[in-house]
Amino acid sequence: MSSSLIGCHALVWTGTFDAAGIRLSVEKTKQAGFDLVEFPLMDPFSFDTAVAIAALEAHGMSASASLGLSPATDISSEDPEVVAAGEALLMRAVDVVGELGGTQLCGVIYSAMKKYMDPLTAEGLENSIGTIGRVADHAAELGLSLALEVVNRYETNILNTGRQALAYVEKVGRPNVAVHLDSYHMNIEESDMYSPVLDCGAQLGYVHIGESHRGYLGTGNVDFDSYFKALGRIGYQGPIVFESFSSAVVAPDLSRMLGIWRNLWEDNDELGRNANDFIRGHLTAVKSIDLH
Ligand code: MN
Repeated sequence: MSSSLIGCHALVWTGTFDAAGIRLSVEKTKQAGFDLVEFPLMDPFSFDTAVAIAALEAHGMSASASLGLSPATDISSEDPEVVAAGEALLMRAVDVVGELGGTQLCGVIYSAMKKYMDPLTAEGLENSIGTIGRVADHAAELGLSLALEVVNRYETNILNTGRQALAYVEKVGRPNVAVHLDSYHMNIEESDMYSPVLDCGAQLGYVHIGESHRGYLGTGNVDFDSYFKALGRIGYQGPIVFESFSSAVVAPDLSRMLGIWRNLWEDNDELGRNANDFIRGHLTAVKSIDLH
């Protein structure tokens, strides 16, 4: 697992992804000690890839991208126009990841990221799976993969547990579609932090590290010891990315959708360094279990 890239979500640094925001997030991610920056691509059509490519090259950083679809681009909708809009957005997001030299598009890319007031319909599920299959085929042409983020019940009505994600991935039936687990969401929905990682095994493609209140790692309820032990047990080698949100940094759409109402930290330089040390420290400790 020493080959995992350790990353940081760009929203730790800025909520504005204009040229200055892109440059700042890459520079700060590098300074905190990470290998990779995860860009939020809520609007991949307006993202300045040229600026991002230059900043990544200048700092020797890798990139990935994530997004949550909106009600207007919800591929689990029963409205064909909404589904088509979502497919076009995802296709463009895949292209952006390729341009950035990344390998994965992750996040809530299979539905809108919102509190649904009704359960998923059979037609909605069919639309979601069909679209993800076509987006995966496009990603495969570029040598890229997708990772579907399992999130809590207030952010989607499709994938709330790892096992639901595995069943969905099997229906998609593409080798370049994997599961993306996030400790913040697992802490709400799963029975423990160990089993979902083992259940996913080689189909785990992307990992988010977030505390139960999305603030400083080690100050909440998440059982990180079990989580990292499980990652060690399956020999996980994919990206491990720190995610934290505070009202200290606001992205107008995303912060509201995620319910970021409180200030959980002010000094993001210190927060980022702490998270980088926390993740690498746990990985080093877990590696020693091989010797037991
Ligand atoms: Mn996440």
